[in-house]
Amino acid sequence: MNYKKGAMNMLKLGFNEATCKENSSVENDLKLCEKYGFDYIELRLDMLKDYLKEHTLEDLKHYFESHQLKPFAFNSIEDINFTTEDEWKKVKDLFLFGCEAAQAIGNPYLIVVPTVKEGMQLLTEEEVFNDSVKVLNELADLAEPYGVKLAFEPIGDRRWCCNSLRQAWEIVQAVDRESVGLTIDCINFYMHDKCADLEYISKIPKEKIFVFHINDCEDLPLRVLDHCHRIMPGKGCIPVKDIADRIKQTGYDQIASLELFRPEYWQMDAEAVIAMGAEACSKYL
Ligand code: ZN
Repeated sequence: MNYKKGAMNMLKLGFNEATCKENSSVENDLKLCEKYGFDYIELRLDMLKDYLKEHTLEDLKHYFESHQLKPFAFNSIEDINFTTEDEWKKVKDLFLFGCEAAQAIGNPYLIVVPTVKEGMQLLTEEEVFNDSVKVLNELADLAEPYGVKLAFEPIGDRRWCCNSLRQAWEIVQAVDRESVGLTIDCINFYMHDKCADLEYISKIPKEKIFVFHINDCEDLPLRVLDHCHRIMPGKGCIPVKDIADRIKQTGYDQIASLELFRPEYWQMDAEAVIAMGAEACSKYL
């Protein structure tokens, strides 16, 4: 890596398991991320449940204690807003599983995602704000005894009830708890308004940026663009460097975690994808 005197702080390389979720496993991701020099891994809760069919949390804790690679954030608790009683119970059950596992292996963050369903784009900002503040407080009440923090991630498409960094930041400010902060994700930031308000990132204090998801996407109209069009950083139309630089300028020096949901990569050998990912991300750290 190319560290120059007086240069900006650097980010640490992370791998989000969505990137190889159809062609790998927790065990294989751990091995490959260690091999290709990743600092952190974001485990997926569904893949973790599969891993726990044959292993224990104690095995996983031991793995991280004896390797360079460390756990960072679990992905993800989704559809947290406007739940029915039954839906809320399911959210809470998965959330508590995540908190217990996180505490057991020393994983600091859980990613929480707003709700996507029919009708979300008809809600007012105030309705989304009030509900989000309420549910994030309820989840933080559950998480804090485990020492786990919540990284709230706005999803850029209008089908999700909270879809901009501005909206998510206003919610996180109102929640005003040390245990609740933000995930900034390149494609989600881009999908909102094609990064028209890049400067907005500079308003977020570094201690409220919990997770940075790095990715790029194909140059498609916003109504067509979806998460399957994510691509390796540098291969698409997102100003990834500008986003990463704005994030670094806040003083943030934690994770830049490669998060893709690209079917093409799921058809490949996981090792080829992870090797390519390490290389593609290196110039943005
Ligand atoms: Zn993300």
